[in-house]
Amino acid sequence: MTLIDGRPLAAAIREQTATEVGQLIAAGVLPTLVAVVPSADPATEWYLGSIARAAGQIGITMREARLQDGGSPGLVELIEELSGGPAHGIICLTPLPDGLTFAEVAAHIPARLDVDGANPLSLGRLAAGLPAFAPATAQAVIELLRHEQVALSGAEVVVVGRSTVVGKPLALLLLAENATVTVCHSRTRDLAAVTRRADVLVAAAGQAHLIGAEHVKEGAVVIDVGTNATDDGGLLGDVDTVAVEQVAAAVTPVPGGVGPVTTAVLLRNVLSAARSAGGAPGG
Ligand code: NAP
Repeated sequence: MTLIDGRPLAAAIREQTATEVGQLIAAGVLPTLVAVVPSADPATEWYLGSIARAAGQIGITMREARLQDGGSPGLVELIEELSGGPAHGIICLTPLPDGLTFAEVAAHIPARLDVDGANPLSLGRLAAGLPAFAPATAQAVIELLRHEQVALSGAEVVVVGRSTVVGKPLALLLLAENATVTVCHSRTRDLAAVTRRADVLVAAAGQAHLIGAEHVKEGAVVIDVGTNATDDGGLLGDVDTVAVEQVAAAVTPVPGGVGPVTTAVLLRNVLSAARSAGGAPGG
């Protein structure tokens, strides 16, 4: 059984991105990402820190825009203001203020700045096979599978989870790779019977250790997107790796699998957005 370490791939993406960011900076463009932070939250701060560290290594400028408690501007107004500023990419973190859905908020991030594929229009373009940024996590799963030379064309791929940020866009990306895709969710009858069909199984349910050995076909590749915080400050995936490694050919660990690749892909998207802006910040 192979443990698929995402860190070398993430490092390679960061290195290539850093080289190209250096060229843009030499040409007078400072690729810039703005992270909108609606509320204080430990998980959000941790994620912000990891993006900021990677951005710093690559040479991408990262700014935070924090929503003032109950103040003005509101979240949507803040995003609209930032859209006219010097950013090449905008991401909006969660949790959101009560009464707002992520789709409602993300709909205000213009496509050219939507480096995490959060705007529903980006998902629609992805579905239609038109150019768009895919959510970085979904793209990271594809990059990991490519890097491991896992054949996707014609393969049976089962995705557990149908969220608009992970499961659905990932299913679209897998279809574009000519995989035969099944998407499971909380109403799926006999989850194990479906997941055991998979040559490639992707767990993105947000349920610690949901996937055990009984869910996995002998020789399958298992990608664990789940990040579930434990009471003692640890992190568990959706896959019980110790059990699954008895049957799978390869599994990604948590942490150290999909997560680092996601951050690297996000920052590479900022580079693409800065390049597409033709050197005009926010252009
Ligand atoms: P989400 O919005 O809560 O969606 C979870 C999905 O899983 C839903 O479609 C849900 O079904 C399904 N599900 C839940 N319990 C299930 C069960 N027992 N059996 C089958 N399906 C089940 O979560 P998300 O935002 O997609 O995130 C999923 C996980 O990925 C979380 O752990 C999150 O922290 C992690 N994540 C990781 C990264 C990374 O870079 N590594 C990035 C983003 C998210 P219903 O639709 O029927 O409710």
